[in-house]
Amino acid sequence: MENLQTYFLNFPQFAVTWGIFFGAGLLSFFFLLWRDRSDFSFREMFEHCVPFNVLTSKSFHMDVIIYVWRKLTDLVFVAPGLAATALVSSATDFGLRSVFADFSPLGINYVVTFACTIVMLIAAEFADYLVHYLEHKVPALWELHKVHHSADFLNPLTSKRGHSFPLVYGGIAAGVITGTFAGLFMFLFGISLVEAVALRAVASKIFTIWTLDPLKHSHIPVSLGWFDRFLISPHMHQIHHSKVERHWDKNFGTNLSIFDWMFGTGYRPERGEKAVFGISGYSNASLQKFNTFKGAYFDPVMRSWKAIVAQVRPDVHAKPGAKQDPPTFIIETQKRTEQGAETAGSAPAAIGPRPPSPASNSGTIG
Ligand SMILES: [Zn+2]
Ligand SMILES: [Zn+2]
Repeated sequence: MENLQTYFLNFPQFAVTWGIFFGAGLLSFFFLLWRDRSDFSFREMFEHCVPFNVLTSKSFHMDVIIYVWRKLTDLVFVAPGLAATALVSSATDFGLRSVFADFSPLGINYVVTFACTIVMLIAAEFADYLVHYLEHKVPALWELHKVHHSADFLNPLTSKRGHSFPLVYGGIAAGVITGTFAGLFMFLFGISLVEAVALRAVASKIFTIWTLDPLKHSHIPVSLGWFDRFLISPHMHQIHHSKVERHWDKNFGTNLSIFDWMFGTGYRPERGEKAVFGISGYSNASLQKFNTFKGAYFDPVMRSWKAIVAQVRPDVHAKPGAKQDPPTFIIETQKRTEQGAETAGSAPAAIGPRPPSPASNSGTIG
């Protein structure tokens, strides 16, 4: 069992991601070829899997830069989350052993391992849901999370497109919630911290494959059919990236959709329903501001800080002569998004200069 677990965990993520991405692309291409009785062309096959306009877009180039940056730096930002997991699980285990000193661990078998894996997955997904929900509702967090939503084309690298700070607060939240369960399993079944944490890693990898995770950030709108009732399908996550008004604040889950259904944020798109990628209120031109290192890393921190100051000291911007930022987006232009759904891919209406509004800082989701 342990060998199987190790092999599964060590199986290269790179192969899983691109295997699913190109597998789905080729499968859908040959299906369309068969359905339309068209002639085969290598160029069309490649264009179907990886549209050329994606490769030449600034959004994709920034995805690549952020991907490399995160490969180099993620370890630093995930460290607090790992420390929180270790601390909370050890404290829970220690606390329970102090209270129930006579208890002897039950031992572990396949059924227990399976049950613990499911519990860990649900706990991790709840933490992700909670953090993601807050990222859309709390202005200071939304400013950081916007970086992920600023992609106007989705590809598997977009899953890593995001500011590094969320790794800290997201990791700590997940560490506290899953660490509590890990500590409980350590106490009940006498397993080590590493074994308890491995349960979460195995669960998350199983669901990454089951939910066709690499397609969530892609142009291929795959539904999981009946499984959409408890899993987040690629099409459901693409809807989360949509700036069409009826798609706002929907599908916060990572792999499980159960919390979305539970808290009223679930949205199951119709077959062929279009998502317009981007952030509500941002024109395609203004989205380009996120496609520089400064726009993706430094500016969000500054706006996040200003959102905190505005909340702690709401009078600060009211002072005569106080320096104000130009608006990051104009809330009124959100009305165009429903119309934009019908003309997916077309350039949104131009944004004219308007005075900044408090709502423009917090933003509505994209
Ligand atoms: Zn989001
Ligand atoms: Zn996403």
